[in-house]
Amino acid sequence: MDDKIIRLQKILDDSRYTVALCGSGMMEECGFIGVKKQDKAYDIEQKYGYCSEELYTSAFYNARPELFFTFYRNEMLNFPPELTASSPAMAELEKNGHLHCVITSNIYDIPYRGGCKNVISLHGTIYQNQCPRCKKMYPLEYIKNSSRTVPLCEKCNIPVRPLVSLFGEMVDSQRMTKTTQEIAKADALLLLGTSLDSEVFSHYIKYFTGRWLVIIHHEKHYKDSNASMVILDHPKNVLPLLH
Ligand SMILES: [Zn+2]
Repeated sequence: MDDKIIRLQKILDDSRYTVALCGSGMMEECGFIGVKKQDKAYDIEQKYGYCSEELYTSAFYNARPELFFTFYRNEMLNFPPELTASSPAMAELEKNGHLHCVITSNIYDIPYRGGCKNVISLHGTIYQNQCPRCKKMYPLEYIKNSSRTVPLCEKCNIPVRPLVSLFGEMVDSQRMTKTTQEIAKADALLLLGTSLDSEVFSHYIKYFTGRWLVIIHHEKHYKDSNASMVILDHPKNVLPLLH
């Protein structure tokens, strides 16, 4: 481990541009359980009569907003993940000029809350909510604390839309382009809590032409051998060792 940390530090020192991709493992290391995980998925189906792949969709937002927002509040907003040592460590690396962009698939703004500045939240965040008609923005509290089941725009009286990618939706094209550009210019790409086969990131990783591909993930994957370095551990145990 120590040996790998020294090598990784050298990579960060030598890389002119380093980008980190934060996958679901970054959520798991906070003890967060996604709505797609088996046990939870079963509970959700029992509770709502539908599975999360059906509930967390624009079809439900449009046609069954009461059910959509009940699910969204209870399952997505009620127990947001706590920060781990990873995010402040990434912020520190960013400050030292060793990390230039953090791209995350989680909707809870974890890297940003930990102090990172250049963050792309690929799937949007729970903190941004907008009226689809007049485009007025609403804070998270408006969605959480609304006395109605469905939070409505004060002006238009229609449901406010959380600006997150729901299942089956296209990712915002500007964020997609920005992600591709950042990866394309990276010398070093860090896969944190994710693998080369990631459902979310594999499409973007193809644009990486830099020198060092580093995976820090506690789960072994058969494609790991394509990386320059693999550290089988949670990012929260590794990132604070770097500077
Ligand atoms: Zn409106």
